Amino acid sequence: MLRSTSLDRVRPASEPFDFAIIGGGATGLGIAVDAASRGHRVALFEQADFAKGTSSRSTKLVHGGVRYLRQGNVSLVLEALRERGRLARNAPHLVRNQEFVIPTYAWWEGPFYGIGMKVYDGLAGKLGFGPSRHLSREETIALLPNIEREHLTGGVIYHDGQFDDARLAVNLAQTAEAHGAAVLNYCRCSGLVKERGAVTGVEIRDEETGGEFTVRARAVINATGVFVDAVRRMDEAAPAKMVAVSQGIHLVLPRSFLPGETALMVPKTADGRVLFAVPWHGCVVVGTTDTARSVAELEPRALDEERDFVMEHARRYLARDPADADVLSIFAGQRPLVRAGGGNTAALSRDHTIVISDSGLLTITGGKWTTYRRMAEDAVDRAETVAGIASRPCATADLPIHGATHTGISEANLQPYGAVAPALADLIQSDPQWAERLHPALPYQRGEAVWQARHEMARTVEDVLARRTRALLLDARASIKAAPVVARLLAAELGRDAAWEQAQVASFTALARGYVFTDPASRADAVLSKNTPTS
Ligand SMILES: Cc1cc2nc3c(=O)[nH]c(=O)nc-3n(C[C@H](O)[C@H](O)[C@H](O)COP(=O)(O)OP(=O)(O)OC[C@H]3O[C@@H](n4cnc5c(N)ncnc54)[C@H](O)[C@@H]3O)c2cc1C
Repeated sequence: MLRSTSLDRVRPASEPFDFAIIGGGATGLGIAVDAASRGHRVALFEQADFAKGTSSRSTKLVHGGVRYLRQGNVSLVLEALRERGRLARNAPHLVRNQEFVIPTYAWWEGPFYGIGMKVYDGLAGKLGFGPSRHLSREETIALLPNIEREHLTGGVIYHDGQFDDARLAVNLAQTAEAHGAAVLNYCRCSGLVKERGAVTGVEIRDEETGGEFTVRARAVINATGVFVDAVRRMDEAAPAKMVAVSQGIHLVLPRSFLPGETALMVPKTADGRVLFAVPWHGCVVVGTTDTARSVAELEPRALDEERDFVMEHARRYLARDPADADVLSIFAGQRPLVRAGGGNTAALSRDHTIVISDSGLLTITGGKWTTYRRMAEDAVDRAETVAGIASRPCATADLPIHGATHTGISEANLQPYGAVAPALADLIQSDPQWAERLHPALPYQRGEAVWQARHEMARTVEDVLARRTRALLLDARASIKAAPVVARLLAAELGRDAAWEQAQVASFTALARGYVFTDPASRADAVLSKNTPTS
């Protein structure tokens, strides 16, 4: 996947594309895969890097959503469980079956959650990941050795999916490209082309060179997550807002706080939220929150109340309490929830919505990572009709995603690459320096950064450390120390000079300080002035 090749394909004023997609998160990339695999001509533009927005900041669960069951949204749960099964089949290198335990502290919780999880199993049907069952107090402690034992009565075990969100996004970009799409990161849509009242294309700014160009398309799709309203304002003067921004944060802790293979799920915290602690890439991800925010941000930061909430609950449910210095990383993301008249964002719909403007701009938002494929199918079906593009059947239900393989890979750091891991292993072996780690505290090898520049469109140190590897989330301080090595490797691959290397290290360090729990830069107030309100 080469950026220059995609640029060459979109720049000449050739025949219009069938689809121009704005936004390279789960939603936009899913649409690119769907439309390209139907045989349409597709171009996708992402203003930063693939999954730079919300799609790299999730809880990493491919799930039906136990909490939506509690809210009575059975159709959303059913659809998500169906999609969970499909994704596990189509991207087995990135999705794994994860065991969760709900610890119970009152006599009624065992039967209550036990029945709820049986309903969840029943809805999953043939695509189920494994049956739920009751656990005794002793069994619960055996699976969650660090669980708070005071008043513990037992637990309920159930199964759900876990994945690597940003790696799936990169693999979707590669899948779309393999089906003929031109996919571009660092290309911002700065305006819409309109002819006789109809949207007929997009104005694009190449953020690397400052160059501007126009791309024409029969259908233009706005898949920009929490930024959809900003793009809609390029089309209409003052459209009613579609999205309510809801922020969620996570803390990453060392695995010693959740030893074993089992995740912890608290279905109802004191204020009615769901809390997860899930093993991930050798660490534990703990979260999340649901906080209404008035501005959409590409690089959001946690509020003090969110940090306190997650830390307090981690301490409440874990016998050995984490201290501030134990936190390896803190990250925040913003959910694009479909607006339904304001109020508490936890109660707003997680369903997706498609809106078509008078000029034909199709905006899609809401949903979840788990349902991205279904959202894409709906969006392409609608766009074909609205734009008069020949209707073709959706092909993604059983479409393998780049890297799909059932063959096991022995090196833990190469597992997320799936089928291409052997080729990457060969590259790493071709130069002794590339076998060295990026940093002793990180599982990644230097050759991975080289591979990512050559095959995964990594353009910056952040692309490598935040999304191609997950170093920034696994250990923010170690990722800062790894930045100079990554900058040197990228400069050699991309033909950049020493000044570029230095600038890259400086900008990554400034960003990564925002992920260090004990650094003031990780607090919302410290960065509010730097984030431009966009909706
Ligand atoms: C805290 C949290 C936890 C979550 N956990 C889960 C989970 O465990 N499982 C699950 O299924 N879902 C989860 N979700 C939901 C899921 O992450 C989102 O639904 C999904 O990532 C949204 O994807 P998107 O593509 O719509 O938005 P985004 O990923 O934000 O993508 C939009 C993209 O558009 C780009 N863009 C904006 N403006 C422009 C422009 N003018 N030109 C070009 N590009 C532009 C942005 O840079 C961005 O990359 C979670 C969400 C949050 C916030």
